Amino acid sequence: MPGFFDEGDLISVLTTQPLDRTLDYKAPEGGCFQGAFVEVPLGPRKVLGVVWSEGEGGYDLAKVRSVIRVLDAAPMREEMRQFLLRAAEYTLTPMPAMLRLATRSPGLGDPPSMRIVYRRGTTEAPDRWTDARRKVMAVLDDYGGLAFTLGELAEMAGVSTTVVKGLVKQGVVAEEQSPRDTAYPRLDPDASRQALTDEQQAAADVLTAGVASRSYGTTLLKGVTGSGKTEVYLEAVAACLRAGRQALVLLPEIALTAGFLNRVEDRFGARPAEWHSGVTMTERRRAWRMVGEGGADLVVGARSALFLPFRDLGLIVVDEEHDTSYKQEDGVLYNARDMAVLRASIENAQVVLASATPSLESWANVEAGKYARLTLTTRFGEAVLPEMRAIDMRNEPLPSNRWISDTLAREVRARIEAREQSLLFLNRRGYAPVTICRACGHQIGCDHCDARMVEHRFQKRLVCHQCGETKPIPAKCPSCEAEDRLAPVGPGVERLAEEVAALFPDARVSVLSSDLFGSARALKARIEEIAEGGADIVIGTQIVAKGHNFPLLTLVGVIDADLGLQGSDLRAAERTFQLMRQVSGRAGRAERPGLALLQTFQPEHPVIRAILSGDEEEFWRTEAAERRHAGVPPYGRMAGIVLSSTDIQQVFDVGKALAARTEPLRRIGAQVYGPAAAPIARIRGRHRVRLLVKADKGAPLQPALARWIAQIKLPGDFRLSVDIDPQTF
Ligand code: ADP
Ligand code: ZN
Repeated sequence: MPGFFDEGDLISVLTTQPLDRTLDYKAPEGGCFQGAFVEVPLGPRKVLGVVWSEGEGGYDLAKVRSVIRVLDAAPMREEMRQFLLRAAEYTLTPMPAMLRLATRSPGLGDPPSMRIVYRRGTTEAPDRWTDARRKVMAVLDDYGGLAFTLGELAEMAGVSTTVVKGLVKQGVVAEEQSPRDTAYPRLDPDASRQALTDEQQAAADVLTAGVASRSYGTTLLKGVTGSGKTEVYLEAVAACLRAGRQALVLLPEIALTAGFLNRVEDRFGARPAEWHSGVTMTERRRAWRMVGEGGADLVVGARSALFLPFRDLGLIVVDEEHDTSYKQEDGVLYNARDMAVLRASIENAQVVLASATPSLESWANVEAGKYARLTLTTRFGEAVLPEMRAIDMRNEPLPSNRWISDTLAREVRARIEAREQSLLFLNRRGYAPVTICRACGHQIGCDHCDARMVEHRFQKRLVCHQCGETKPIPAKCPSCEAEDRLAPVGPGVERLAEEVAALFPDARVSVLSSDLFGSARALKARIEEIAEGGADIVIGTQIVAKGHNFPLLTLVGVIDADLGLQGSDLRAAERTFQLMRQVSGRAGRAERPGLALLQTFQPEHPVIRAILSGDEEEFWRTEAAERRHAGVPPYGRMAGIVLSSTDIQQVFDVGKALAARTEPLRRIGAQVYGPAAAPIARIRGRHRVRLLVKADKGAPLQPALARWIAQIKLPGDFRLSVDIDPQTF
């Protein structure tokens, strides 16, 4: 039962400011509830906060300032507060940073008045126009039919507001009044039901019963690509709608949402709320508000949607649960899969983790009896799983700067003749991963990071994949100044496209790489075009591995199956296994059978063998045994502590100081390794060192880490981040 504070009562407010404590204020005129979002004075500024508890007092009450106003937003529920507290505790994140995640709504609390919006008008565009005007129209076209406020539209187009106004005068852009933040249309759980297969129905029944129980539970829904996992979990969503509770579906990639939204619309007769970085400010604001007020039944979104203020959350689906992009690697370091389970346990909700290639973590949780498991074994309809074969590259020597073996080329040619599609997979963006000087051997690196610059021929620049820094390709070597001796080494997708063009001059080739598309919408359009047969050969990075459905695609060629197996990362085997199985699963999704060919120099490698045989249980057992032996997640606990500063000496000194005072960690039996240079030793000019902490599964790691870190006072420009369950170790 949330408390209520009368006007003048002393209250503690948690703000979004980076302070290590809450601040005391007096409750405003009219009083306020615990959990209310408020605006409070802080020095000369006004900041956002939430009424957290009774004030602490113990000082001159006359000096305490009053809350400026209570914002027009539903107060934070007790469940949400518990979620933030426990998530903060788990990830060792300060509460203000958690609150920032939970209040990512532009204009939070603005009055719900009418507003003026702009959308595409009815008048045709004139033939001649300025660049600025064209940019505005491009935004409106890109977001087909959506309305924007004046400021948003101008900002997104990168033009001044007068340009937009000019277009309104011409009638090309329409200006209209719109009520703000309307509820989303209700979804109808029975709008259009598919007849499920027996296997699908059995799985759906279990999930439906779980949702109807209104209690917590997590289920791993495992099934080969195309087996109908989506179809099945949409039944769980339907059950959630019938129960009058809200549902959340998390997808790993924005590019997947468009297709998914169409599917939801087909199934439930209306479109749900969307939440990801591609959503406009206006829509974000509406989604945040409506989720809180119950005006949104279903949210489809990226990991940050977990922090929306759901009023009554009954189900969270984490699709492609093994996907590494669920791990937030910036700011608050959390894994959305784990946070989904935490949130659901607090909300008495169900979690469905869907994947064809589950993470070892989830697999271990099933083994331990913490998660239930449902398995779909067959592809829906006529589709059969692709045949998988290795191409032993030791038997197919290639001339330099060629990567497509004769065997693979032959298969591609046969597909072109049969009017079927081929996918060539190479997980490397750009033209060439390394640019080297043939005279002195110098490799061009980023000035700010410990990373090589990658040539992107399309952009005619070198790009750092760490920090995004770009520079022109120099005419002479920056080290020995030799002219015209810089050469690209190794393949990226752009370079592979050149080889493909030379081998198959008449084929229609489409390169799918995230950096070649200006917007998620453009990428989506291309994906649809390919699905409809608009390409003979698709060349792609890992964005093609995820969930897209290409009915005409019958051949997948993996250019370098060994790529992910290099390096010391303990998860390398798991990642490679998942990626290769996912990519191969793109072949033969409709009635035509598929073939996947893996080019490899080590066909006898256990991971390659497991990929080819498809014996997942066997793979997981071997992998689990190795991790158990090494005492690493999911059979042990780990944390990475990354210290960074512009001063390399200082950053190592502080690292050593921490390593010398491990008493709090020794007490729980944890070991500390390092300091050593972090996997990327320098990013954006900051030097990074890492300490790794390893503990037994049941050890209370977080409190010990907190005590350990608290012993050291960090110099001014230092940053310390704690990564619980790091992705690389
Ligand atoms: P997954 O999520 O496991 O990859 P999907 O749910 O996307 O599988 O199903 C693969 C394809 O088969 C989709 O086009 C889907 O519409 C179709 N499909 C699956 N189950 C059924 C069903 N019971 N009735 C009709 N179509 C189905
Ligand atoms: Zn860089």
